[in-house]
Amino acid sequence: MEPTASLASASTIPYWLDTPDRPARLPALTGPRSTDLAVVGGGFVGLWTALLAKEADPGRRVILLEGGRIGWAASGRNGGFCESSLTHGPDNGKQHLPRENDRLIELGIENLDAIEEAVHRYGIDCDFERTGIINVATEQYQVDAMAPDHDPAGGRYWLDAEALRDHIRSPQYLGGLRETRTASIIDPAKLCWGLQRVIQDLGVEVYENSIVRSLDRDGSRILLTTDDGSVTADHVALGTNVFPSLLKRTRLHTVPVYDYALMTEPLSDAQMEAIGWKHREGLSDAANRFHYFRLTADNRILWGGWDAVYHYGKQVSWKYDQRPETFDTLARHFFETFPQLEGLGFTHKWGGAIDTCSRFFPFFTTAHGGRVAYSAGYTGLGVGASRFGGRVMLDLLSGEETELTQLEMVRKMPLPFPPEPFAWAGVTLTTKAMIRSDENGGKRGPLLKLLDAVGMGFDS
Ligand SMILES: Cc1cc2nc3c(=O)[nH]c(=O)nc-3n(C[C@H](O)[C@H](O)[C@H](O)COP(=O)(O)OP(=O)(O)OC[C@H]3O[C@@H](n4cnc5c(N)ncnc54)[C@H](O)[C@@H]3O)c2cc1C
Repeated sequence: MEPTASLASASTIPYWLDTPDRPARLPALTGPRSTDLAVVGGGFVGLWTALLAKEADPGRRVILLEGGRIGWAASGRNGGFCESSLTHGPDNGKQHLPRENDRLIELGIENLDAIEEAVHRYGIDCDFERTGIINVATEQYQVDAMAPDHDPAGGRYWLDAEALRDHIRSPQYLGGLRETRTASIIDPAKLCWGLQRVIQDLGVEVYENSIVRSLDRDGSRILLTTDDGSVTADHVALGTNVFPSLLKRTRLHTVPVYDYALMTEPLSDAQMEAIGWKHREGLSDAANRFHYFRLTADNRILWGGWDAVYHYGKQVSWKYDQRPETFDTLARHFFETFPQLEGLGFTHKWGGAIDTCSRFFPFFTTAHGGRVAYSAGYTGLGVGASRFGGRVMLDLLSGEETELTQLEMVRKMPLPFPPEPFAWAGVTLTTKAMIRSDENGGKRGPLLKLLDAVGMGFDS
């Protein structure tokens, strides 16, 4: 079958959201309300923030306002890799925050452990599997870069081509670095809906279809206004991701980058045997432009990544969620990687926007005398880090100095992107430089070296 034919009957709904298990729509906010804490955004950042606020103080009144449906955006349509890294990988953390990177690695593991613990404690059915991950090498320069990272004490194992065949079989793979502690795979939409159920049980008022149009000071409190209602709150936590920030001064700190994924039909036992994916780790390959892929509970393969597409003008729009040329490329790469799965069909194809910031990991700021906290910039690794982001925002709103509020990661903002047309030109040039680097044995050209030196870049 031609790769394009394998996509012929694929639904354009993100796989995880295409289920009758999706909870019923919640009413929109109407009329005026008053609360202690208002959370804006019903993705992972907002949901964890609301949950942690209630756990810390069950008597605190919390209202969550979501502009669409809970989990409809990035949180319900991602790859479902729930990783410990808070910094888009430890190497990126080391480059930006050399003094505290080791502590951030520990905090990240604690955070992932806490997610796993909460999933079990609240009985959230989200197919959580602490599988670990393998970063596979398809070129010799990647082998040379990753093999020295073998560190069994740290849970990192270099697998040569032969050893890797016990984990995954592809004629393209030369080896892989396996990390056992740092990652799990989940069904992200089920985690969102599970968190929704838990916070509602704890007394959080959740409103859907309630876009916050404005955020203003109201004496010593904050006034949030939606089309049909308003909330006056002592404190506000903003988890609005890639969407236009309610704090205008942060709007140049992220750009929307579109990332795409496919889902196959379930594999038969014979097909599973042919690829040998018996330990079920989440996988990715190691170039600048990379694929990420993982199994679902019913043995489908989610296959995403490669193209990271920025559209002129910073627009977030449903019209970018489908990109046939990227789906064709992904399907072709899939069958080149796993020729033994020839004939398998894709059931879903979708895309979504990622809130890329120039350092690739979340940033934090406060406004209105510390009554409002904002966090964004998670780039392509926010599933796990979102819970940490919620903790940080609550610490910031408490007005107290804590370990988290004192982190350089929290106190230091990334460099903003320039306005258009410079953002588009910069992103286009950087993308081309990354492609050249992949074609050139991973060597970083002058532009990438310059961006490395100033701590700035572009990624998905
Ligand atoms: C295709 C794709 C694959 C990805 N794969 C992975 C992965 O495998 N692992 C990983 O760690 N990360 C991945 N990511 C990134 C990850 O999904 C995000 O970092 C994470 O979900 C961000 O959570 P969030 O709550 O900040 O954002 P969102 O889920 O986008 O939630 C923000 C919410 O805020 C709401 N909102 C915005 N403005 C307003 C307003 N004014 N009023 C009311 N509501 C508002 C929006 O409607 C939205 O629901 C991927 C992302 C994409 C798109």
